[in-house]
Amino acid sequence: GKPVCECNTCFRGPDCSEFSPGCAADVDSGNPLFLEPFWTQHAASSALLVAGWHRMSYSYNDHSIISQELEKHILKVHAIVGNAVTAGRFIVFGAGSTQLLNAAVHALSLNNSSTPAGVVASIPFYPAYREQTDFFRSVDYKFFGDTSLWKNTSDVPKNVIEFVTSPNNPDGLLKKAVLQGPSAKAVYDHAYYWPHFTAIPAPADEALMIFTLSKLTGHAGSRFGWALIKDEAVYEKMLLYTDENTFGISRDTQLKALKLMKAILEGKGRELFDFGHETMRKRWENLSKTLSVSKRFSIQQIAPQYCTFFQKVRGPSPAYAWLKCERPEDEDCHAVLSAAGIIGRRGSSFSAENRYVRLSLIKSQDDFDLLLHRMNALIFHEEDGI
Ligand code: PMP
Repeated sequence: GKPVCECNTCFRGPDCSEFSPGCAADVDSGNPLFLEPFWTQHAASSALLVAGWHRMSYSYNDHSIISQELEKHILKVHAIVGNAVTAGRFIVFGAGSTQLLNAAVHALSLNNSSTPAGVVASIPFYPAYREQTDFFRSVDYKFFGDTSLWKNTSDVPKNVIEFVTSPNNPDGLLKKAVLQGPSAKAVYDHAYYWPHFTAIPAPADEALMIFTLSKLTGHAGSRFGWALIKDEAVYEKMLLYTDENTFGISRDTQLKALKLMKAILEGKGRELFDFGHETMRKRWENLSKTLSVSKRFSIQQIAPQYCTFFQKVRGPSPAYAWLKCERPEDEDCHAVLSAAGIIGRRGSSFSAENRYVRLSLIKSQDDFDLLLHRMNALIFHEEDGI
């Protein structure tokens, strides 16, 4: 007979294809499970079996805390994607890119100044920059808020560290540092600078760039990120930070990351990026189509751009929709969506107005399908005034 189907809690019916009525579409977090089907298709090439005696040591044979083999493979991935200049760069590994964000602030803020360096980002920005900087309560740096506070100052008066997220979380736009001058230093967070999420117009060539496995392969739980650093003194300080803080990144995680890099490189990256891009592009197209008939809601515009990886002009495929409630009375857009069974993340989380909500498009297909279903229903009833 037919196997009994165990449906996800939000689905029902004999083949789990009907939506359960009371179930909300939870598109709050940036959990990158959209890549899970890719790895089920590549289960063997990405599998690891590690004997109990393996890699017990604190350090590698060369006494370092960074696997040279993994470093080599990361550089190869950048070379085939063409998303970063790696020549003349030092590399530091982190427990996710999260650890490296603060390692970078720490390294850039040490300049013998008696006043703390100011940390800034352009609204809307990823909340961890503010949260981490506040949390550590350092005497060396302080969160100063929106970059625009300094925009019209021709020479920034003090040491300022600007976070630049490109493509940006939440709105997916490619960004450049706003602040210039000898006391302005930028930390480029390139978590999403991969062909899944954006065109790659040129290799990024900044002095301090941060990447993460979380949004490249989807293995957020492995907690692995890396920084490419031009300046040797900054590199030394960031390396010391990870050394003092954790004595380096789990050797098991480094092994797992190596296995995943090898799996990506097997198909010259084509398979992973074709899958990632196709999935994200389709989701964006479907959501855009749904929203195109709405007067009540709008989403960000991203122009098509030439991609050096795919060697063609390509449309948008961002990780998040940055949705705006257009009606004057819909000031609390999160509440409007929640009432319709859609859980997004409030604009205020990104230091923006609550007229905006971020919808995650990188969760599982079920999460996305449910979002589309709830959004269609909400827009269908738009004229009813609910
Ligand atoms: N930077 C940005 C812009 C992010 O969106 C995220 C995760 N959502 C991170 C950094 C941190 O990711 P991780 O620590 O998993 O590398």
